[in-house]
Amino acid sequence: MSTNAITKNDAEWKATLSAEQYRVLRKKGTEPAFSGKYWDHKAAGVYRCAGCGQLLFDSGEKFDSGCGWPSFSAPAEKNAVAEQADVTHGMHRTEILCSRCGGHLGHVFDDGPRPTGLRYCINSAALTFAPTNKPPISSGSKSD
Ligand SMILES: [Zn+2]
Repeated sequence: MSTNAITKNDAEWKATLSAEQYRVLRKKGTEPAFSGKYWDHKAAGVYRCAGCGQLLFDSGEKFDSGCGWPSFSAPAEKNAVAEQADVTHGMHRTEILCSRCGGHLGHVFDDGPRPTGLRYCINSAALTFAPTNKPPISSGSKSD
């Protein structure tokens, strides 16, 4: 566990998360494909854990996988996510968890784009998005 690990009991999580966030993050639920708010979300910015706010993914690694969930080729920081073998539902998958609060995020598959070849398939409900705070790029500015 990292030094700043978050530990809350079930009632505390229930009180701070929405019903859908709680179901995904704490009960390892999965939102239906194409139902979440970020699967087709293309704005520049960062995605944080809906449970604890840790930076998890950057829009620069987001790609259109067509699977109906937000998909990333890599986490924003290597240690932002933890992996765990998941053999439920008769499948061998690798579960992805927030390394800080242990919240369930989704799964990682090895059919992603190069160079990583990975596809982090993440529930929108496990994420909150913050747009990059940059001034808009001036194209063809009128002054000088
Ligand atoms: Zn977290």
